[in-house]
Amino acid sequence: MMTNEELIQRAASVIAPRKTRNGLFADVGCALLSVENKVYLGVCAASGSNVLCAEQNAIGSMITDSVYRIAKIVAVWKDDQGAVHVISPCGNCRQMMFEMDKQNLQAEIILDHDRTATLEALLPYHDWWKKQG
Ligand SMILES: [Zn+2]
Repeated sequence: MMTNEELIQRAASVIAPRKTRNGLFADVGCALLSVENKVYLGVCAASGSNVLCAEQNAIGSMITDSVYRIAKIVAVWKDDQGAVHVISPCGNCRQMMFEMDKQNLQAEIILDHDRTATLEALLPYHDWWKKQG
């Protein structure tokens, strides 16, 4: 099993920011480890009205392999000095990971080299359907 530190480094390794008139690409990198122990990488792509998160690109590569279960995932951003910052997944990505496979609720979201939270902890009302009246 890859360590958090190794996955943080893999995520940082794909960051290569490219700015265009209306876009910013590859300033966030993601590394995810599938339950089959394979690493998938991705970068963000933001252009005009479209924003693809780094997590979504890594997940896209994973599901292209017909794999849907995540063991660990991390996204990172680098500041102007090149320091790496771990960032937590946005709401869309959290919900997508859950809806891809309910067992992803036990996926470990890497928050630091020595800290993780389960997806379930980050998405406490994921299954809320309360009929009214
Ligand atoms: Zn996202």
